[in-house]
Amino acid sequence: MKRAAQGMHFLLVFMAALVLAPLVLPEFYVTLLNYIGLYAIVALGLVMLTGVGGLTSFGQAAFVGLGAYTSAYLTTVHGVSPWLTLPAGLLVTAAVAVSLGLVTLRLSGHFLPLGTIAWGISLYYLFGNLAALGGHTGITGIPSLQLFDLELKSGREFFYLIWAVLLLIVLATRNLLDSREGRAIRALRGGSLMAEAMGVNTPRAKIVIFTVAALYASVSGWLYAHLQRFVNPTPFSLTQGIEYLFMAVVGGVAHVWGAIVGAGLITILKQWLQDWLPRLVGESGNFEVIVFGLLMIFVLQRARDGVWPIVMRWFPKPVARVIAHDSQPLARRSLPESGSLLLEVKDASKRFGGLVANDRVSFTVRAGEVMALIGPNGAGKSTMFNGISGVDPLSSGAVTFRGKRIESLLARDIARLGMSRTFQHVRLLAGMSVIENVAIGAHLRGRKSFVAAACRADRHEEARLLREAAVQIERCGLAEQMYEATGSLPLGRQRLVEIARALAADPCLLLLDEPAAGLRYLEKQALADLLRRLRAEGIGILLVEHDMDFVMGLADRVVVMEFGRKLAVGLPEEIQRNPAVVEAYLGGVE
Ligand code: ADP
Ligand code: MG
Repeated sequence: MKRAAQGMHFLLVFMAALVLAPLVLPEFYVTLLNYIGLYAIVALGLVMLTGVGGLTSFGQAAFVGLGAYTSAYLTTVHGVSPWLTLPAGLLVTAAVAVSLGLVTLRLSGHFLPLGTIAWGISLYYLFGNLAALGGHTGITGIPSLQLFDLELKSGREFFYLIWAVLLLIVLATRNLLDSREGRAIRALRGGSLMAEAMGVNTPRAKIVIFTVAALYASVSGWLYAHLQRFVNPTPFSLTQGIEYLFMAVVGGVAHVWGAIVGAGLITILKQWLQDWLPRLVGESGNFEVIVFGLLMIFVLQRARDGVWPIVMRWFPKPVARVIAHDSQPLARRSLPESGSLLLEVKDASKRFGGLVANDRVSFTVRAGEVMALIGPNGAGKSTMFNGISGVDPLSSGAVTFRGKRIESLLARDIARLGMSRTFQHVRLLAGMSVIENVAIGAHLRGRKSFVAAACRADRHEEARLLREAAVQIERCGLAEQMYEATGSLPLGRQRLVEIARALAADPCLLLLDEPAAGLRYLEKQALADLLRRLRAEGIGILLVEHDMDFVMGLADRVVVMEFGRKLAVGLPEEIQRNPAVVEAYLGGVE
């Protein structure tokens, strides 16, 4: 609590400095702070888009332009009140962002940044070439903002508006990231595969952060238009778009406060360089761009996470959150009757080019049964898991789950039906705590949207989701590590985190890919006990495992695969006695 109080003190000092700044500082510095505030609003969008979501955009300046030009045009040509042009600008920006997002966000790797450069340039030329927008000369005579009786004429008066908006957006962004939707956004970074398997609609999550980042930029543009009372295309060019990205990266691309630090550093540095470099070089020109380029390389080499984490070393660490166990448990799915048919795989085949990884494999799993899938490395077991769970669909064959054909459904829709899985090569978000990772598993058990999250209207549901995550963590024997960074755990324990995450989904079928690998003897026993309890509850379990003692002591039935084909199926004793299996799989041992 003492640490939280310290953090509070810093915030109070910061706020007091903000309130006093325009009263004591000379005009020049107030103007500088105004610009820092405007830039930070845009950089904040990039923190969420690039730092948290992993999507790079060079085109944010164009969205600033959309906000600025919409207001400039509507106020000067149609006499609309500036307060009405804000929602109008947001609407225009949202429409453009969603359309662009639908096209560009499908692009992968470096095609996405290239796409953002393309539309950044296009919008810039659009501003410059539309006669209605004043061409390259732009639009003058934009009215100032009127706040009740106060006219925000000067930079000093505008200062409070800019910084109030910025702090509001910082708060909303923090709230958003610390929520169910926020975890889904952070999960995007680890590749869409895991997130989809946990039921996250990743294309939607991408469009959401893309649009939100564009809306932030648009708000900044609206403020800019009424501060300057004049717009032309120059500030909305690709160069400025790159500078916004600089700010986010230098400040700390994954931290909301990093946006302010980055905007501050770059703006002040640019000012300073523009004064000094031409004197040093002896002629005028935009030499600061070269310094920025070098700075960027330095940051990427030496301080990948930006300046903010370095600043944070001087400050107390935030206190770990305590989970309220008294919040109401989440509703549970009604499980199919024990012994009833849960999963039927029929003639499942998967080809990778010429390689047949699964060759017409058929088997079933019943509710309340542990079915083991064994076979040597490369037999096709993980491929089969991917096919069943929709992560990497089968080439042919049929999969029926709870009476429904699922072989052509998306992974997230299969997850919604009650199938949950772990990955042989763990797919966890290493920097996030164990409880946050596990809570991703409960994604489909919450409803609250990002809007609710941003204004903290999701706290009741969030408490229930975290409680569920905590319960599953304790069940998997990870209570001690609940708040630790997941990446710091030994691999065996990380596998247990994957199981807890799968259980947080409240599944009726659990697919476990080598869950006991890397566990010590006692941990394996605890895991076997847990799986027995789940089986007794009526959950079906499909298990891939190499430890034969573990498998034979636990499984009700066993399927053996070799070279992609099903070799045998039967009770553990039968399998152990089956000559073909002994020959193929246990051969060397027997
Ligand atoms: P297991 O889990 O039984 O050890 P896998 O299912 O991982 O086996 O692999 C089965 C075969 O399919 C292996 O020969 C593997 O190299 C191949 N394979 C798996 N995934 C891919 C992929 N994405 N592309 C190409 N080949 C793959
Ligand atoms: Mg495997």
